[in-house]
Amino acid sequence: MPVRVNMTFQRPGTWLLLLFLLLLPVFSAAQGSGVKLRTVVIDPGHGGHDPGAVSKSSKLSEKQINLDIALKLGARIEKECPDVKVIYTRKTDRFIELAERGNIANRNHADLFISIHVNSAKNASASGTETFVMGTDKSQSNMEVCKRENAVILLEDDYSTTYEGFDPGNPESYIIFNLMQNAHFEQSIAFASLVQQQFISNGPVKKSRGVRQAPLMVLWRTTMPSVLVEVGFLSNASDRSVLNQAASRQKIADDIFRAFSAFKAQYDSDAAFEIDPSLLASQEPDEPEEAAPAAAGPHFEIQVLASSKKLRNGSSELKGLTQYECRFINGLYKYSVGNFASREEAARQLPAIRKKFPGAFIIAVE
Ligand SMILES: [Zn+2]
Repeated sequence: MPVRVNMTFQRPGTWLLLLFLLLLPVFSAAQGSGVKLRTVVIDPGHGGHDPGAVSKSSKLSEKQINLDIALKLGARIEKECPDVKVIYTRKTDRFIELAERGNIANRNHADLFISIHVNSAKNASASGTETFVMGTDKSQSNMEVCKRENAVILLEDDYSTTYEGFDPGNPESYIIFNLMQNAHFEQSIAFASLVQQQFISNGPVKKSRGVRQAPLMVLWRTTMPSVLVEVGFLSNASDRSVLNQAASRQKIADDIFRAFSAFKAQYDSDAAFEIDPSLLASQEPDEPEEAAPAAAGPHFEIQVLASSKKLRNGSSELKGLTQYECRFINGLYKYSVGNFASREEAARQLPAIRKKFPGAFIIAVE
């Protein structure tokens, strides 16, 4: 689904990931109040007039594989976890808008959202599984997945209204994702890690590309832990032959089921989520990330608000902002976003940020 989008990401996803790793030991399951995992929404990607990735021979399409694995996964959950309600965004070959997929989960107060997809790349040697959580990461390969998985909105009738002017062809549109509600990031990462662990130990596709972050629209508005699983590459001969076999698709469904069971057990108890940091991919194995340029001179950020008291995470004043800098200067806590090499770059992102924080302005940071 090649829609050309030139996107540049200034946000240093990698250091956020590092920061996250440093905080890992203090994470504990926050539920603790008898909250149980009762409803899971399984989302087989694509469908109807959107086939998703298609094999060279055109014999195999992503939408069929997604649906088959989703139904197998749901059947196992229904059989072995009778206390869990399984809801599918689709059970047949039909088209559903990306936003509606998340809405289905939200309307049903789902506790977990699992979107199932198959990858594809120009480079036929690219292979393996990966599980995404909603987030921003500057790795270009993640952007390839985003372009492919987000481009489907162009097939929808009125996407510019549905997505509040979001334009997959406009890089500035993507900055909005930095301001997203991200209250379930840790749990999403925990589930994604369990999925990748299962794939590594049991999966018919053994190669793991890890747990990743990407601004994926289908996850954007979900109000529960949510992941998008890419179960292999249709563009890779070896992955394709695995995905072509019903028995292998059952194994993949079984892997996701075991991850689900483990997640549910942790979710339902007060046990802390354990995450294996080695699964968190911060760089693409096929294309090493370029080294960061040596820091010299100031960089630029966009200050969104200042407060005399320190705001707690999730405070309404932060409007869902979770990725920001907070500095205490002259008696005020000042909150800023972005990390731009030049004032011009920051200025390009300012209008998008002002939609949410009308008083936002650019600051130079030494
Ligand atoms: Zn897909």
